[in-house]
Amino acid sequence: MCFEGTRAEVRRLKDAAQNAANADLSLDKQNCVTDVRSRGDKRFDEVRGQFQSLVDSKDRFTVAFTRDAEATQDDPLRVVVYERANATDYPIMYQGRCGGARVNQTFPGQMLHELAHHFPVPLGQPMAGEAAAIRTENVYHRATRGAGFERCAH
Ligand SMILES: [Zn+2]
Repeated sequence: MCFEGTRAEVRRLKDAAQNAANADLSLDKQNCVTDVRSRGDKRFDEVRGQFQSLVDSKDRFTVAFTRDAEATQDDPLRVVVYERANATDYPIMYQGRCGGARVNQTFPGQMLHELAHHFPVPLGQPMAGEAAAIRTENVYHRATRGAGFERCAH
């Protein structure tokens, strides 16, 4: 798995991916991941394993910013993240339902969401749909901000 973009973009992408997977990453000169070291939070164990599968795949996954706010994942091997994702927001759950309230998004939260669409690909499966991506994204929101910040599916 390799990050693409300017030096500054690669730094931001790497930082978001590290927080999304709760892991420290080493990159080679082509900005491809050579090592994934857990930061130790067990709540990310499943996510970290799925991230590791993208890294270990014989297919070369790339991660890059897009100007498209929808960040449509057109290519199973290309993970795109909206470059202003941290200026967007999402609806949260309230008493088990979508309550209408919204909170700001974060780069790691959005990164985990977009990565999650691709997590089934190394297993030879189609990309994950929106509901599954949101469930995975919520691992990050729960761990960093608490259950009150879980994204609702609609
Ligand atoms: Zn999505």
